[in-house]
Amino acid sequence: MPPDRYVVIGNPVAHSKSPAIHASFAAQTAQHIDYRHLLAPLDGFAEAVLSFRQAGGKGANVTVPFKLDAFALATRLTPRAQAAGAVNTLKFDGDTILGDNTDGQGLIADIVRNAGVAIKGKRVLLLGAGGAARGALLPLLEQEPKELVIANRTVAKAQELMALAHQQAQNAAMVARVKTSSFSALDGAFDVVINATSASLHEDVPPVPSTVFTTASLAYDMMYGAQPTAFLRFAAAHGAQVRDGLGMLVEQAAVAFELWRGVAPATATVLAELRSALTTSAS
Ligand code: NDP
Repeated sequence: MPPDRYVVIGNPVAHSKSPAIHASFAAQTAQHIDYRHLLAPLDGFAEAVLSFRQAGGKGANVTVPFKLDAFALATRLTPRAQAAGAVNTLKFDGDTILGDNTDGQGLIADIVRNAGVAIKGKRVLLLGAGGAARGALLPLLEQEPKELVIANRTVAKAQELMALAHQQAQNAAMVARVKTSSFSALDGAFDVVINATSASLHEDVPPVPSTVFTTASLAYDMMYGAQPTAFLRFAAAHGAQVRDGLGMLVEQAAVAFELWRGVAPATATVLAELRSALTTSAS
């Protein structure tokens, strides 16, 4: 039997680690799949997806800049994709194109399971109000933090996200937990500080007061790299425990793999291999 075919589709896409991650998952779980990069023209996402499906493709991961196009293309959405307003995983099932969003679940798995840091009952600060922050919102609220403060450079966008959180919240207690702030008005220390801004792409740090961190805080940057980001260096300098988004990447892939194949892969070895490859390539 030929392998079932999957792709990660983006533009650019050659840098994506998803084919390596899914090849490891497939080897570990004895799944017969073929997973590759697919570069789509910036104005040709839907055509690229539909012709891949026509050729027998079973599913796709979707990366920058196509997560909103994937949301529009899906004929059925999971509740978490609906809440995120974006799709990073497509599954082709007969005439149905199922759209899911596994990013937020990946974030939670990496914080709660891999880092061993509970969110329930904790004070959580979410920096940013773009696509990644939106995708994290419902999964974070489902963990029942004591308080979730959304802070963004453009405060109006944080307020829009809070309104969305209020719509998604399943009860009044959840609604009451969500607040917004500007960076400069942030008050007090947080147990978990998640950087969902793209500031790290430019070696920038969102200008938050250093008092948001204590030695008991986890500072999490959704971005990852061979070296700690400027945000993580800033947090570490103020005593926080730090973690980058490589685990989130692996965990969101594991959720997608399970959606497609019905089997949950173990992630620890894959994460350790990726970390080692990142560090080696930088030295
Ligand atoms: P968006 O472009 O949708 O949003 C960018 C956000 O960053 C906005 O809130 C913007 O604020 C803020 N921002 C940008 N520059 C700065 C700055 N210099 N200082 C402070 N705030 C700034 O990006 P995404 O939400 O899609 O992605 C955010 C990050 O998450 C990226 O680094 C991406 O790589 C990472 N990511 C990681 C994943 C993983 O698996 N590890 C998965 C998904 C994303 P404003 O509203 O004021 O413009």
